[in-house]
Amino acid sequence: MDLYKLKSHELKSLLEKGELKSEEIVSSFLQRIEDVDPKVSAFLYVDKEESLKNAKKADENRENGGLLSGIPVGIKDNISVKGMQNTCGSKFMEGYIAPYDATVVTKLKEEGAIILGKLNMDEFAMGSSTEYSAYFPTKNPHDLDRVPGGSSGGSAAAVAAMEVPLSLGTDTGGSVRQPASFCGIAGLKPTYGNISRYGVTAFGSTLDQVGTFARDVKDLALLTTSISGYDRMDFTTNQRDKVDLYTGLNRDIRGKKIAIAKDFLGEGLSDGARKNLMDMIEVIKDNGASVDFIDLKLTDYSLAAYYIISSAEASSNLARFDGIRYGKRAEKAKDVIDLYNKSRSEGFGAEVKRRIMLGTYVLSAGYYDAYYSKALKVRKLIQDEYKEIFRNYDAIISPTTPTPAFKLGDNTEDILAMYLNDIYTVPVNIAGIPAVSIPSGKLNGLPLGLQIMGNYFDEQGILNIAHAVEQSLNLDMTPGL
Ligand code: GLN
Repeated sequence: MDLYKLKSHELKSLLEKGELKSEEIVSSFLQRIEDVDPKVSAFLYVDKEESLKNAKKADENRENGGLLSGIPVGIKDNISVKGMQNTCGSKFMEGYIAPYDATVVTKLKEEGAIILGKLNMDEFAMGSSTEYSAYFPTKNPHDLDRVPGGSSGGSAAAVAAMEVPLSLGTDTGGSVRQPASFCGIAGLKPTYGNISRYGVTAFGSTLDQVGTFARDVKDLALLTTSISGYDRMDFTTNQRDKVDLYTGLNRDIRGKKIAIAKDFLGEGLSDGARKNLMDMIEVIKDNGASVDFIDLKLTDYSLAAYYIISSAEASSNLARFDGIRYGKRAEKAKDVIDLYNKSRSEGFGAEVKRRIMLGTYVLSAGYYDAYYSKALKVRKLIQDEYKEIFRNYDAIISPTTPTPAFKLGDNTEDILAMYLNDIYTVPVNIAGIPAVSIPSGKLNGLPLGLQIMGNYFDEQGILNIAHAVEQSLNLDMTPGL
């Protein structure tokens, strides 16, 4: 049996029955990485020896194993794993080794997971295609001429290519859901405050969340449950009781009220994606839920507000990368200012520089009110708009992206076209609500995704709807690698 083909809940039950060893599982995935990663380029670093050693330990300690005991997980390269590199997809951070574990990694280890390695990403999580990685672009396992999405493209492609059953990414404006959609897998961005960011390299601190990738909703629930909850090291995490999404998962959505925003169906949405969404309405109705068309009038302002707020916060967060405290130090600098200038000019790629310039501009004295403060007011209005909808509805659905995966190189010259990829995903980060993307079909052989957005901390509600749709569709999203 090719073990890499199994989902983690399947592996988990075989492990628990004693029919399988973690060592066999980890070996199977390491072999798969060797076989397909030269084509997909999802991993930046694979820790073969440690993974096998930890698998052995998990096998010896099976009775005390946690939720993910003996199951391999891959980690985006902006989430610290002690002793592994944490490049953030940047040359600036080449050679940096994380001296501690991010809280999500500590939790994974406590649950017995085996960390296989670090996954490729757009530099500092800025991008929608993984082409802005300073190392190499990751390829979409469904079509190697196409992008896997981004910025967590390595995390999505590795799971889709069955190089690892589960992975973590980060989602500031769509970086989990958009690549999940492009790669034909499931991806969840939890409610702001549900998962700790301690040890995660900050991009836009009021938007960032760690998100989860898996090949089905059950696995997504398992992984999300393992890492969520209050953390005293991140004061933005919420103190409410942890929900066991895995045990709570069910597909009974009879009587649920689902909304679909007309404002998400405008210009830019491809005919194929529109038709697919209409099919999803029928699937949801067949499951006994109702679907109503509603207005979300502020949708048009989300993208502008997002690029102002996220760039402003990025320009501040990235100030620490100065060649002294963090990052490569430039040589032959005349003085300390010259050292900052040279290190940052040499270390950052073009997209990161663009965001820093944009962010510094909107925060500058003369433009603060015109841009930054206005964007914050728009954010408040958007949040109110979503709260109002969730008074009457259990969830909102939309396509995850306007089109399926585009070709490598297609959007790198046209920055606005690249930014437009996030049109349906950024409102979720602005509002701070949870959303999941699941595969909803294919267009010309390429995966399409359905986005299901829910009320604050109602991860269980959206996962149940996702589960119902997934079980009804019963799609085969195996890539032909
Ligand atoms: N693609 C968006 C951007 O470039 C989102 C990035 C993210 O979620 N990290 O900002």
